[in-house]
Amino acid sequence: SSEEAKALHKDCVKVAVNVRPLVTTELLMGCTDCVTVVPGEPQVHIGAHAFTFDHVYGSSGSLYSSIFEECVLPLIDALFHGYNATIFAYGQTGSGKTYTMGTNYTGEGDSGGIIPEVMDMIFRKIDAMKDTTEFLVRVSFIEIFKEEVFDLLDPQSRTDGTSVVKPAVPRAPIQIRETANGGITLAGVTEAEVKSKEEMASYLTRGSICRATGSTNMNNQSSRSHAIFTIYVEQKKANNGSCSGMGNNEVAGEDILFAKFHLVDLAGSERAKRTGADGIRLKEGIHINRGLLALGNVISALGDEKKRKDGGHVPYRDSKLTPFLWDSLGGNSKTVMIACISPADSNAEETINTLKYANRAR
Ligand code: ADP
Ligand code: MG
Repeated sequence: SSEEAKALHKDCVKVAVNVRPLVTTELLMGCTDCVTVVPGEPQVHIGAHAFTFDHVYGSSGSLYSSIFEECVLPLIDALFHGYNATIFAYGQTGSGKTYTMGTNYTGEGDSGGIIPEVMDMIFRKIDAMKDTTEFLVRVSFIEIFKEEVFDLLDPQSRTDGTSVVKPAVPRAPIQIRETANGGITLAGVTEAEVKSKEEMASYLTRGSICRATGSTNMNNQSSRSHAIFTIYVEQKKANNGSCSGMGNNEVAGEDILFAKFHLVDLAGSERAKRTGADGIRLKEGIHINRGLLALGNVISALGDEKKRKDGGHVPYRDSKLTPFLWDSLGGNSKTVMIACISPADSNAEETINTLKYANRAR
């Protein structure tokens, strides 16, 4: 029934909002806080708008422990049961996506965020299960920029620990092949096997460095590209134990369970503000990133039972981002979207856009 489908979707896709505190530059500009979180309710008010989500995290308290417990841990559990899982950070540039995901990982100081905690928890679980289960863990780290895919773990882009040793030739995009089922395969993307948290962290650091320095216009690029860190977990029961798989990735006849976890730091959601030849700002709203547009359409189509019945067209192919995620959105998978927002009044317009986008995903 449509109620059941809705309930299933609600269980598969959770939407959270993360309000960061005002940052120094905003305070210096005299910005005020225009976002109100209703205490004890997952509700955000801004101006005359009110939005309700699955979770809202404000700027105070034990922010990250509750994001981790409520949004991230359930996905890690699902991953070990064979479900594909995805976490997106969505929001305008400067809203805290990279901070929240921990994509810019150097391993030094207090560079926290979701990904480092995920790495930690995955290896703790593996450690606890290692007597009965054999694990194969791999990672990949890609960037999608202007509808081209780049391998952030490309072995040819060597790093010297803190920066990338620039290759003599510009990096080449990955060849993309479409598959019959609406997905894509990426030819030659590095999938590095890792045996410890430290080893996994070293790939995260390395990819973060490549992302930051890979292009000529770095600010521009990192705000306009999607970064996807993927953890692949394959488990095989030793002896005659049986995997407790409930997802659809169980290999028949063999006790092998395979699932992947995409951790996605999306491109900035702001509408490009373009200036015409006469210096007048062009109409906004037409240049929203294609991947973000396609992602919003896919998630909303998945939640819309009518659309699924009418030929089931879910528009995965409208960008390079969505085909990459075709087997990780909908069906037997779990998704959390974290909408990141700034509380500053100067960002109110983009904040409302972000909340509207997130609201559509529910
Ligand atoms: P984005 O990736 O969305 O462009 P960043 O993650 O780079 O945004 O965050 C922008 C700025 O806000 C950074 O200086 C970051 O340290 C700061 N920031 C983001 N989230 C928080 C938070 N929850 N607490 C404190 N500072 C934050
Ligand atoms: Mg960022």
